[in-house]
Amino acid sequence: MSGNESRFQAICQITDREKLPPKVPNRLEEMWASDVFTLNKMQACLPKDVFKSLKKTIQTGGKLDVSIAGIVAAAIKDWAISKGALYYAHVFYPMTNITAEKHDGFISVQGDGTAITEFSGKLLVQGEPDGSSFPNGGIRSTAAARGYTAWDITSPAYVMETDNGVTLCIPTVFISWTGEALDKKTPLLRSNAAMNKAATRLLNLLGHSEVAPVNSSCGAEQEYFLVDAHFAHSRPDLLLTGRTLFGRPSAKGQQFDDHYFGVIPERVQVFMQDVEERLYRLGIPAKTRHNEVAPGQFEIAPFFEAANVASDHQQMTMTILRNTAKKHGFVCLLHEKPFAGINGSGKHVNWSVGNATQGNLLDPGTNPHSNLQFLLFCGAVIRGIHKYGPLLRAVVATASNDHRLGANEAPPAIISVYLGSQLEDVFEQIKRGDVKSSANAGVMDLGVATLPLFEKDPGDRNRTSPFAFTGNRFEFRAVGSGQSVSGPLVAMNTILTDSLTWVADQLEAQLGKGNDLNTAAYSILKSVMEDHGAVVFGGNGYSEEWHKMAVEERGLLNLRTTADALPILKEKHIEELFEKTGVLTATELESRFEVYSEQYINVIEMEAKLVISLAKTVIYPAAARYLSELASTIANLKQIGMVFEAETAETVASQTKLMIDTVSKLSNVLDKHDFSSVEEHMQHCAQTIRPLMDQVREYADALEGNVADDLWPLPKYQEMLFIK
Ligand code: ADP
Ligand code: MG
Repeated sequence: MSGNESRFQAICQITDREKLPPKVPNRLEEMWASDVFTLNKMQACLPKDVFKSLKKTIQTGGKLDVSIAGIVAAAIKDWAISKGALYYAHVFYPMTNITAEKHDGFISVQGDGTAITEFSGKLLVQGEPDGSSFPNGGIRSTAAARGYTAWDITSPAYVMETDNGVTLCIPTVFISWTGEALDKKTPLLRSNAAMNKAATRLLNLLGHSEVAPVNSSCGAEQEYFLVDAHFAHSRPDLLLTGRTLFGRPSAKGQQFDDHYFGVIPERVQVFMQDVEERLYRLGIPAKTRHNEVAPGQFEIAPFFEAANVASDHQQMTMTILRNTAKKHGFVCLLHEKPFAGINGSGKHVNWSVGNATQGNLLDPGTNPHSNLQFLLFCGAVIRGIHKYGPLLRAVVATASNDHRLGANEAPPAIISVYLGSQLEDVFEQIKRGDVKSSANAGVMDLGVATLPLFEKDPGDRNRTSPFAFTGNRFEFRAVGSGQSVSGPLVAMNTILTDSLTWVADQLEAQLGKGNDLNTAAYSILKSVMEDHGAVVFGGNGYSEEWHKMAVEERGLLNLRTTADALPILKEKHIEELFEKTGVLTATELESRFEVYSEQYINVIEMEAKLVISLAKTVIYPAAARYLSELASTIANLKQIGMVFEAETAETVASQTKLMIDTVSKLSNVLDKHDFSSVEEHMQHCAQTIRPLMDQVREYADALEGNVADDLWPLPKYQEMLFIK
């Protein structure tokens, strides 16, 4: 079957598809967390004292008492087997964005040849996957391949049902045999503990004697695209790289804004219901779903949770979106820019810190100007984002996210903070040393007697800001849709730890000198604004003026590519930040740089190879076929005065030649291997390979606009985006 036939067949198969009837949803109470070994289930099946000890460990984050591990393991095993599980897996999060699992059977063969199910305390608490095939950034040689997984007791065990059966899953950290973190969970747990310590110290200084553990929270909004599997399977680029390396933008894109928040297509709605049911069963609080800006693009957001659990749940959400899509004949694309010319996908990470005694520490209340506790926490964030903005850029730096950041799309690569009009005004007053009031938002009267008076929000939204205060939390919008949220959360928690420690040091010194709390706090905040206020920006983050002003007047960095951003991880002050907070050792940080830069290089080189092969073996033949078709008719047609064919043939021939010439250039630059450093290699990818790939694409996309539709082999944008 030739390529174009498979394209037309795909269209027919999709349009003739038998509809899946929507399921009658189960009752939420029945579904909710039914696949999770929750505290309630533990309480029901564990001896009282064992449960008490376990609960305490979970809530205070201590170490599991080894003497009870065996009893807990037996209870988990019985529960999992009652749910149909034969296997268990230590689930961990290596330095890629994937979730990894090592499956083991509960089976144990006895001396007499019989088999029993077995799951000891040791198997629950510790595992030993052969870690050698996971990236470690030079921490271990393959010869010393041993890696350990250890149960993160603060994240509950659950069973995961797939077509291959039911598996008990135990969320774990993944470390090397020398104790270094090889994963994304370990630093997240450490950053949270460090932040807790610093926040508690500040709260104590503010006069609170009772301070419950402070935890960071995260609510991640996930954007994604759905494409029918028939189309995706005829696009090697989508299958291998998650994005289209070629494709002429469809005449209709997102310019009519008719998709955003529009009616969800029926087939997609059935898919979403299925996803939500699975999420509910896993105790993941999916809350909102809607169409996104681009055609074929959607969003799902959960209710926020403790950052560590939210991060695990986010990984599960990505897995479930992908797997459920398959069942519904879709491919779910989590790539940041699957289609050129229309919006890409991000993952807004909503983040706050709080505890059970003082509540949300980023809640400004109605009079933020006099809410010292809020001001100090918020001021600490402002200071941190200014000092370590480039780090925040580095933790969202991937080859795929570069298509959003630093391109002409949300948000810019320059990290600034949006506070909203009310808070911006309060912090300006603080800077002037004259704090009087908080501007009130007031109410909105719609002038219709039957409609209520609206309380306005004290700050508007600013979609162009990468880091925005949104009422009682910050929203980090530069995170990529396919990324783990852990890196960004680690960065935010660690930066905050550093700033809270600085604030507490200052406060302690001033109180020691006999200053009163008010005077001390405002003077600290004043100096924060004087030294770090440059990071606060309320205007249009996409504008040219801002890019110029940010860099030239405010001294902020504009790190456009991953090649520019990742080396930040090697800077001395970043190494010190992670070392002094205890979140990552210098070796661990270095290994992360190694792994992420290698990933960047691999992705770009793999894409470039595919660009070359598709251009040569798929697009060139289509153009050549069309040319020969034209050539056979041109002579006859010229006689009757039809010159269009001749002109088209000329255009197609010249575009084809330009494409093939550029392909050779691309092949040549791909052959370069003599780099003096990883940094140089990354720059080669960013400055030389990527632009040539774009150029090949330009010619190929122009060809798509000229070659006869019935000869074009790859499913087109309008088909992939609009046929559901
Ligand atoms: P948006 O208006 O930005 O699209 P959504 O309602 O889609 O907002 O998502 C907002 C996310 O922020 C949700 O996951 C929500 O639970 C989360 N969120 C709300 N309050 C907090 C908070 N205090 N800390 C962290 N996340 C929060
Ligand atoms: Mg948002």
